[in-house]
Amino acid sequence: MESAHIAENALSKPDSGPDFRHVRSWIFDLDNTLYCARNGIFAQIESRMTDYVMAFLKLEREAAYARQKDLYRAYGTTLNGLMLEHGAAPDDYLHYVHDIDLSDLKPDAALAAQIEKLPGRRFVFTNGCRDHAARILDRIGMTHLFDAVWDIRTIAFKPKPQVEAYESVVTAAGLNPGQSAMFDDIARNLVPARAMGMTTIWLQSDAPWAKQGPAMDVAAGDIDHRTENLTEFLQSIRI
Ligand SMILES: [Mg+2]
Repeated sequence: MESAHIAENALSKPDSGPDFRHVRSWIFDLDNTLYCARNGIFAQIESRMTDYVMAFLKLEREAAYARQKDLYRAYGTTLNGLMLEHGAAPDDYLHYVHDIDLSDLKPDAALAAQIEKLPGRRFVFTNGCRDHAARILDRIGMTHLFDAVWDIRTIAFKPKPQVEAYESVVTAAGLNPGQSAMFDDIARNLVPARAMGMTTIWLQSDAPWAKQGPAMDVAAGDIDHRTENLTEFLQSIRI
């Protein structure tokens, strides 16, 4: 009976805990937010990015990796840097880097149950591409939970944390930022969201990729909530 008891607990409604009763739009980053950073998926993508940079810029692996990280820091995504500095074609790159083995990725029924109970509209907001997002969501059993996926094409290759990315999706979806919550494992991606009035939740991680990328100061006020476990956090909030 223990498993039944846990299941009942997991879906119970807390009457204390973080107050999200104002939220009608729920915005989730994809990679390392909706699935676990430790399962190696992102490491595969990162490795294929290096492969691509090696072939595209004709560099040895070490130099390609360094160039990849420089572009990421300067432009927000490696792709953005390759496009702007080297004229790379986005479709070619996106197809290549996301062609990865997802067999280790399993359905996450506990997280899906928590997301399913969130009232209003739900979105995925990723700097990746929608084919990758669709494959991931299918693997983790969450395709049906989201109203739309906003990908790097949706935001015209202006990745988070560029403010244009947020403005375009808010306008396109007719969101009220004051009634929106955004979840991301990269703290700086929450800064523009908070400035627009969204409630922000940082999926706290010590993973190296959470600290790379464009330099941006993150103040305490940019992060409304932080958690290391999205399922437990969603279980704790008032909605
Ligand atoms: Mg992420």
